[in-house]
Amino acid sequence: MKMLIGGQWVDGGSSIDVLNPYDGSVVDTVPRGTTADIDRAITSAVKGFAINRDLPTHKRISILRKAADLMQERFEELAITIASEGSKTIREARKEVGRAINTMTISAEEARRLNGETIPFDSAEGSENRVGYFYRIPIGVIAAITPFNDPLNLVAHKLGPAIAGGNAVVLKPATVTPLSALKLAECLLDAGLPPEILNVVTGNGREIGDALVSDARIRMISFTGGVEAGDHIAHKAGLKKIAMELGSNSPVLVMDDCDLDNAVAACVSGSFWAVGQNCIGVQRLYVQEGIYADFRRAFLTLTGQYKTGFQLDETSDMGPMITESDAERVIEWVDEAREQGATLLAGGTRDGSLVQPTVMENMPPGAKLDCQEIFGPVVTLYPFKTLDEAIDKANSVDYGLHGAIFTNDLKQAFTAIKRLDVGGIIVNDSTDYRVDLMPFGGVKKSGLGREGIKYSLQEMTEPKVVCFNL
Ligand code: NAP
Repeated sequence: MKMLIGGQWVDGGSSIDVLNPYDGSVVDTVPRGTTADIDRAITSAVKGFAINRDLPTHKRISILRKAADLMQERFEELAITIASEGSKTIREARKEVGRAINTMTISAEEARRLNGETIPFDSAEGSENRVGYFYRIPIGVIAAITPFNDPLNLVAHKLGPAIAGGNAVVLKPATVTPLSALKLAECLLDAGLPPEILNVVTGNGREIGDALVSDARIRMISFTGGVEAGDHIAHKAGLKKIAMELGSNSPVLVMDDCDLDNAVAACVSGSFWAVGQNCIGVQRLYVQEGIYADFRRAFLTLTGQYKTGFQLDETSDMGPMITESDAERVIEWVDEAREQGATLLAGGTRDGSLVQPTVMENMPPGAKLDCQEIFGPVVTLYPFKTLDEAIDKANSVDYGLHGAIFTNDLKQAFTAIKRLDVGGIIVNDSTDYRVDLMPFGGVKKSGLGREGIKYSLQEMTEPKVVCFNL
């Protein structure tokens, strides 16, 4: 596929092969964008901003609605693209396409609800004759940088609200999974989006990222990815708005009184969805000691039924890691933890990029798997006695995206809600629960700001005050 700059689908000087991570076969190629391409894309987006700022809201709504319709028409093609360039199985990919369509539809709906307020100027002495209000204006050109693990829906989470709010975008999708993003751009153009409003530059973030994020014409950076790249970008950005959706190593608390079958099923799915390459995937599973043995037995039985394999095989439960080197890293972390005293209960092996679902216990405090983000199919079980103890352990890391508790005791649920340091708490489901309209984001190193279309729209627009002196 080609990249999209200035309304044209263009090639670059050289290209990048997009590989299927299962067998390394070439799915397609994309241009290796350069800093000159970034400059042209920003120049185009500046023009695009002038166009979108002046588009009536009903026009933006109809473009977003039509794009959602076109995605529905291309549903299976989009699912196959996600499952071919990335790690997700075809069944997981279909769920992502459904959610991405929903994200675009909600963006159209929220465009209509972008309201201001009247301001009570007369509450200040001397302003008795003033009346006025504020309304929301677009922020300008937004640099959107997206990761590989939800290559369609996380792009939709940036493009939908950015367009709804009247902005223009330069998008840089993940190098390993650019095809889903380019197909979303096709849907938007086919839906009638004036092309300068959306520019997509494919290419390596380390080569072209600085040129994008440090350019003064960019007024906001909306980044989803790892802490390391996020930190680098924040240092290069200069004076502009930054929204960061970063990683985590999500904790789940399973209390003695919970519905055990529900907890086991939800936690196995939450641990291994998308091969654990999931910012809200379950990584640390704290299980109260009264049910620890039963939970452990049932968890291992269900995990043992998981079938890893080719993503496009309808019977696969788990596909490959995104690259073989990521699979190697996962096994290295597991081996390192075992050398430090952790016990392997299941998995811990790989065949090329396929990693078996892995379960551990007796994890030593401070091991990488205990405090960093694995972003792979590895979960650790930890027994605990009291809720206070589990909450302290859950909070002992630098991350805080989602937390979860399984319990039928309201008091315990509310204690966890109040005391877990996270951006979202799920009661009686795993951390891996999200709908696209809720405010989504983390505390600590898990991020800055919130996504979820209504909330992204707030971040991507600014209030403009109007005051009449009568
Ligand atoms: P990543 O390596 O940080 O890459 C994310 C994006 O940043 C890619 O497009 C990448 O480009 C680009 N990038 C890398 N270095 C850059 C630089 N110096 N300047 C500008 N752009 C740069 O993350 P990933 O491996 O794709 O995704 C996994 C991470 O994302 C995990 O930590 C996960 O938790 C997090 N994540 C968070 C959320 C959330 O909503 N909180 C959702 C999904 C994933 P290249 O591909 O060219 O390197």
